[in-house]
Amino acid sequence: MYRQVPPVDRKMMQKINQNTLLNLIRVHAPISRTELRRLSGLSQGTIFGMTASLIEQQLIVETGETQSTGGRKAELLEIYPEGGYVLGLEIREYELVMVLLNLHGNIVAIEHYEAQFRSNAVYALDWITTSVDAFIRRTQVPREKLLGIGCGVSGGVNTHLGEVVDSWILDWHNVTIGPPLHEHFKLPVFVDNSVNCLICYERLFRSGQMYHNFLLVTFGRGLGMAAIIRDSPFRGSQGLGAEFGHIPFDAHGRFCECGNQGCLEAYVSDHGILRTYAEIVAGASSHADAVDVSLVEQLVELAMQGNQDALRAFELTGTYLGNGLACLVNLFNPECLIICNEGEHLLSLLSPSMKTALKQHTFSQLGKNLQLICEKSTTIESWARGAGCLVLQDFFASPKQF
Ligand SMILES: [Zn+2]
Repeated sequence: MYRQVPPVDRKMMQKINQNTLLNLIRVHAPISRTELRRLSGLSQGTIFGMTASLIEQQLIVETGETQSTGGRKAELLEIYPEGGYVLGLEIREYELVMVLLNLHGNIVAIEHYEAQFRSNAVYALDWITTSVDAFIRRTQVPREKLLGIGCGVSGGVNTHLGEVVDSWILDWHNVTIGPPLHEHFKLPVFVDNSVNCLICYERLFRSGQMYHNFLLVTFGRGLGMAAIIRDSPFRGSQGLGAEFGHIPFDAHGRFCECGNQGCLEAYVSDHGILRTYAEIVAGASSHADAVDVSLVEQLVELAMQGNQDALRAFELTGTYLGNGLACLVNLFNPECLIICNEGEHLLSLLSPSMKTALKQHTFSQLGKNLQLICEKSTTIESWARGAGCLVLQDFFASPKQF
């Protein structure tokens, strides 16, 4: 379709330049004005004018000096962490995690609110607005410094409408949360799938900063995935793509929470690995040493004590996961694959068989320069932090021209 590109007005150009500088300062801080000029291609006058304006707006700050090439001292710049704050919310089955982040993405305050969100979408908005209002009051953050609210939920989300399309974990279907939260708080509200939130955090502040094409896979209550392709989140045509957990693994296999049969998540998740362990124990010739476990943490402990059935369950699950990851590598050819789990030891137990299967099924040379990162330090707070990063991502992004 032919579309006439409107002229970029002066104000828009200034905004684009301002955000270009903000982003360069965020990524390369502490950075001198000379270096900023080199990286941005902007004129010296523009750099001086813009940085003065950003300092006045309290968005950046001079933090020290460096020796410049001519022997003169040059001031170094970085983002002023207290220049603004964002709220990140992670809605789980039985709790709401709320964090307040500064512009460095660091957690300034955190609170947990317990309630049964699962199957209770009708009450959820009231619980969220009441608890977030109270949280904002307790943090004493000046209202004008709040830039927005990011909200993470499991399942498919229509990010344009702020609607949870289908969350099987929460048992929420077609629940609109973005507009009512915006109406109540009078702040920009961003709603996205929790794994997309987590990859946003990785991309802005952690390992993901170094890559243009990378994938993030989360193993836990479910099996989730998010992808950054050419520096942009991959969503598919309806914004609901990358449902790695629900690719068919065994058409006649276990039933999945989504209502389908044989999804990978029914095998590769906390409940999947417990089921695998139960099947191993049931199939063993002797049941004399069988240990009953109901939590994945107990299974981890058992495996670490050398229990053969538990070790076998991790080995099998690692193979299933590795096969799935090989599919992803063959499809996306990423530079990096980040695997996250909230437990400290689970990934170590899965790792050997996972790596073997991944290597075995990766096509041709697609795995040649692949970086594999096992992120064991993911916590429940990381997810909420990711939700807050949705706002920071928008804040640091260049405004769209048309
Ligand atoms: Zn499924």
